[in-house]
Amino acid sequence: MSMPDKCDDAIAQLYEFLDGELDDAARARIEAHLRECSPCLEAFDFEADLRRIVSSRCRDRVPEELRERIRGLLQPSD
Ligand SMILES: [Zn+2]
Repeated sequence: MSMPDKCDDAIAQLYEFLDGELDDAARARIEAHLRECSPCLEAFDFEADLRRIVSSRCRDRVPEELRERIRGLLQPSD
């Protein structure tokens, strides 16, 4: 009977968990729940994958702009 509460608790803290904003006790509680609850684990994995994709695309794009700017700085225009 306590499972739904645990799931609500885990999902409610999904973003804090992924952002690393939880303290050790809260993180351990969620990790323990994910080990025994595959629906929550899938939700966390999905969100984590999404973030990895988004952040890796941002990482690819920013350095390219930065490289362009640095190239411009390294080439004396006068
Ligand atoms: Zn759950």
